[in-house]
Amino acid sequence: MYKRIVLKLSGEALAGDKDGITFDDTVIWSLVSQIKEVINKGTQVCLVVGGGNFWRGRSAASGMDRTKADQIGMLATVMNAIYLADAFRQNGVFATVQTPIPFGTMTELFSKDAALARLEKSEVLIFAAGLGHPFFSTDTITALRGAELDVDGLFFAKNIDGVYDDDPAVNPNAKKIDVIKSEEIVKNNLKVIDMAAANLCFERKIPVVIFGLNEEKSIIRAVSGEKIGTIVTV
Ligand code: UDP
Repeated sequence: MYKRIVLKLSGEALAGDKDGITFDDTVIWSLVSQIKEVINKGTQVCLVVGGGNFWRGRSAASGMDRTKADQIGMLATVMNAIYLADAFRQNGVFATVQTPIPFGTMTELFSKDAALARLEKSEVLIFAAGLGHPFFSTDTITALRGAELDVDGLFFAKNIDGVYDDDPAVNPNAKKIDVIKSEEIVKNNLKVIDMAAANLCFERKIPVVIFGLNEEKSIIRAVSGEKIGTIVTV
């Protein structure tokens, strides 16, 4: 039973089958109801949202300034977070979007104390705009917020059911890895989660689970300790 977790939702996973763009409400309603259940069972939940369903800085046209491209990416995560927070509201769960940089009346500025106070009240926290700086990804902020808030588990919900030894889209013989050490990810430069995130998990000894968002009740199953997806041990 986890006391406090950070769950990272990739933008693409939020889009479900909708060609990787905008939102699939079936996916959103399912994740909201699952998270509600997880909270009711006593786990405090922070979410980090990606932006890949709208924009990723690294995929911008080659002539584009990377800082500007990443700024658009961060704005995409804020759009996702506001959408998600409202989905929670519609389902009777109080959710607040916290960002590391000010967005006026749209979000709250992150602070550890404010975050913990909200979590104690069984509210959901959604972290958006990443670290507020370019050249990072939302994986990094997931690990950073996890370390800052002393979580006992980090969960990465993806549109693939775990980590493979090769790209399964290219290699039909690629095998799913059930358990891997965070040290191996760092040493072998495996592109499972980004390196800055993997290093932090390794250093702070935070266990990680990477799983598919679209599998039946996968959030509840992963958080209750069922062996789904890939477990990254410390
Ligand atoms: N981003 C950034 N700094 C951060 C986090 C995110 O610049 O700390 C930008 C970056 O352009 C990234 C985009 O926001 O591509 C969306 O985040 P990410 O790629 O992690 O989303 P996902 O692929 O998980 O949907």
